[in-house]
Amino acid sequence: MSICPKGKHSKARRDKRKAQSWKIALPSLVVCGKCGELMRSHRVCRSCGSYNKREVLKIAE
Ligand SMILES: [Zn+2]
Repeated sequence: MSICPKGKHSKARRDKRKAQSWKIALPSLVVCGKCGELMRSHRVCRSCGSYNKREVLKIAE
């Protein structure tokens, strides 16, 4: 047996789901704990090369 939708979703319900797509397109930005720059969460900071308050990348100056 497989799942089967009992009723058709309303246009409002369908479009509410599609309206969420901008959240995926926007990268979630957080402030770096080391240099204070905006960086993407769960990524190495591009300006100081740190991740989790530890230097993991050498940034050439
Ligand atoms: Zn940083």
